[in-house]
Amino acid sequence: MITSTAVPVAIVGAGPYGLSVAAHLKALGVPVRVFGVPMGSWRTRMPAGMFLKSTPRASAISDPAGRLTLNDFRAAEGLAWVGDRYAVPLDEFIRYGEWFQGRCVPEVERAAVVRITPTPDGYRLALDTGEAFTARTAVLAGGFPPYATVPAELWPLVGAGLASHTSEHADLRKFAGQRVAVIGAGQSALESATLMHEAGAQPILVARTRQLLFGSPPETDRGGERPWPERLAKPASPLGPGWSFTAFSRATGAFRYLPDRTRAHLVRTVLGPSGGWWLQDRMQGRFPVLTGHEVASAEAAGGRVRLRLRGPTDVLEVDQVLAATGYRVDVERLDYLDPGLRRAVARRNAGAPRLSSSFESSVPGLYFTGLSAANTFGPLMRFVCGTGFASRRISRAIAAGNRR
Ligand SMILES: Cc1cc2nc3c(=O)[nH]c(=O)nc-3n(C[C@H](O)[C@H](O)[C@H](O)COP(=O)(O)OP(=O)(O)OC[C@H]3O[C@@H](n4cnc5c(N)ncnc54)[C@H](O)[C@@H]3O)c2cc1C
Repeated sequence: MITSTAVPVAIVGAGPYGLSVAAHLKALGVPVRVFGVPMGSWRTRMPAGMFLKSTPRASAISDPAGRLTLNDFRAAEGLAWVGDRYAVPLDEFIRYGEWFQGRCVPEVERAAVVRITPTPDGYRLALDTGEAFTARTAVLAGGFPPYATVPAELWPLVGAGLASHTSEHADLRKFAGQRVAVIGAGQSALESATLMHEAGAQPILVARTRQLLFGSPPETDRGGERPWPERLAKPASPLGPGWSFTAFSRATGAFRYLPDRTRAHLVRTVLGPSGGWWLQDRMQGRFPVLTGHEVASAEAAGGRVRLRLRGPTDVLEVDQVLAATGYRVDVERLDYLDPGLRRAVARRNAGAPRLSSSFESSVPGLYFTGLSAANTFGPLMRFVCGTGFASRRISRAIAAGNRR
């Protein structure tokens, strides 16, 4: 079925960024159609039993009035106010996102966008329901899953069903009884290995870093309650205390003026691999950790895996490998974009879209938000706390364009 009337804005994605930009656009009177499973990535691409690393305050999805924070949700549910020392459980955050969606964007359509093709007056979007329609503007908020990265050494194992990326699992109990090499040193690696161990698997963490790092527990529930010399030395920010984090949170718009190499370096290194403060006791001493080791090659033998490592331990035999090896933004991975359209999007740093100050790509009317925008606007875009900055800029630009 082809719908003939053009919609002003189509939003691909109903996670925190898609929901937030929809809420901001609607508040400015811009009609939208929003596609995706609300909080879909959090439901199916993260492990049950996980906790958020961001504080409750930094986990608010931005709405135009700023009245739909996680604590507003808790109040509506009859739950007590929580501060920085509360680790938010995954299921609570999903319920919060769905509550936000019900209030701001109840019209979300649970359809997948399977193709976006340019037309003379905008974009033709084809849905998995068989419907196709035209939108003048498209905002891509499809999140992190398309960018999941597995090191090349593990590719042969993936084909054989012996290795997978963390983003493929919502339930790690399926590994119970198995010996699993978990590759990585970030929160995802440390938490996945811990959850697996607690579920009766035998994880072995393999990390390139010489030492695992963990955050420190916040001293107070409200950042503003810390003694003033400490606040001066390390001001509070949604990314954590410190001047550099404050700069990334407050001067987000300036990030795109940094030289390409500096931005690429900062995106890679700021908030590098480390575990949440509440994870350390649950993990340390519970299972083997091979720091200073790197996978050199991998082969399948008799339904098991033999990993050759660079490091003091040179061979590891396991039943499965779990790659907690992160995400790399690359427009080429967005297979729902017409190949010609993908080629037309100017890139920076080997694959990330080059964006304007209002998140518009080099293709007029095609916007990117969330992780796809981290190369342009910095680390804030990797987290829910970036929704306010992104949604305000995108919605104002689109509303202004609509009035012209
Ligand atoms: C394990 C893990 C833990 C994390 N913990 C934190 C944390 O503690 N705090 C924090 O701030 N951030 C955390 N993050 C980062 C977090 O993922 C992002 O902050 C947030 O999810 C970004 O929201 P988003 O809307 O851009 O993307 P997503 O949440 O990924 O949402 C994407 C949406 O797009 C939809 N979609 C995708 N493709 C299509 C399509 N073709 N058609 C229709 N719909 C589509 C999906 O169904 C989904 O609704 C974590 C990430 C991971 C992987």
